[in-house]
Amino acid sequence: MYNIAEIDLKALQNNIKIIRSMTENIEKTEKTKLLAIVKANAYGHGIVGISKELEKLNVDALGVATVEEGVKIREADIKTPIVVLFQHFRNESEYVCNYNLTPIISNAECLDDYDKFLKKHDKKLKLYIKVDTGLNRMGAKPKEVLNLAKKVLSYNTLELEGINTHYAASDMFDDASKEFTENQIKVFSEVLNNLKTNGIKINNAHTANSAALLYYKNAYFDMVRAGIVLYGYTEKLHDFGFKPILNLKSRVVLVRKIKKNETVSYGMTWKANKDTNIAVIPIGYADGMSRKLSNNWEVKIKGKYYPIVGKICMDIMMADIGNEDNIKENDDVLVFGDDDRINANTMANKIGTISHEVLVRIGERVKRVYKN
Ligand SMILES: *Cc1c(COP(=O)(O)O)cnc(C)c1O
Repeated sequence: MYNIAEIDLKALQNNIKIIRSMTENIEKTEKTKLLAIVKANAYGHGIVGISKELEKLNVDALGVATVEEGVKIREADIKTPIVVLFQHFRNESEYVCNYNLTPIISNAECLDDYDKFLKKHDKKLKLYIKVDTGLNRMGAKPKEVLNLAKKVLSYNTLELEGINTHYAASDMFDDASKEFTENQIKVFSEVLNNLKTNGIKINNAHTANSAALLYYKNAYFDMVRAGIVLYGYTEKLHDFGFKPILNLKSRVVLVRKIKKNETVSYGMTWKANKDTNIAVIPIGYADGMSRKLSNNWEVKIKGKYYPIVGKICMDIMMADIGNEDNIKENDDVLVFGDDDRINANTMANKIGTISHEVLVRIGERVKRVYKN
């Protein structure tokens, strides 16, 4: 394996510690719990490896997108509660029960299915109700929540673990976005209070994604749902002390001479303006290097930065190393990682996306390696 995503578990511990100190520093009697998001292959970091480490670090729950992801980490012997963040299909209800996953429901559609299966196996299931406070993606409308909660409680097999919601613009700082978020918090609080007034016990109310964790202390409730900050990314690199935990590394496979006026790669988009040398690096868009980074990225070899020249191919890309003569086959190449110039934020900016997408695009051929 020549392409590796090297994952620094010390940095992950550091990031967890920062999250904990943020949630401990607010005035509250009960400790704020932590749900760590491991959906989408743990944002590209490897769902099994990361979940095992997070379990060791005693997070209170893990968050996955799909039932399949939940099954995968249960089968890897994860004992921590696993919350399925998104609506699942009805025909997955049996897996939810069987693998003791914690679903989040928007309506009563699956309740009979859960009940039937749970009765047969003499089991119980915890679940959450999602409240739609404005994202308009999933969830029950605020005024429907009380009835849905009562309906859940009418089954002996089901336990209402809590309620939650998700923000539309907690990472945006213009006045309209801030007002929108504050209103979502207000609507959610009203729903929560209404349930409590009606004698319904809620163990866990949670709303905060990473951005809300950083910027809205009034959004913490009982638990926070941290995603991108676990992996070390904030708006500005190293803000609050978070540290990217992944370095994407490749190795030089070939160094070759290029004459002045020769072009490199498909479409002849780059032409040498003097005699030079090219390092061929066996990582391409199949591995997560967007083609939009063609002639628009640099990599680090032996402590120096070199530009990527020509189109990035499916499996390979080229760096102009000039007349550097100490670069050889097998030399390490930092493609991006915990580096001021080449990181998931700077890459995201170049291709018009967010660090989340850069990380999840790291391909299957890249081996995830965990270092203590
Ligand atoms: C992905 C996700 C999160 C985490 O978002 P980050 O911005 O990565 O912190 C939190 N809650 C829900 C419901 C999600 O889907």
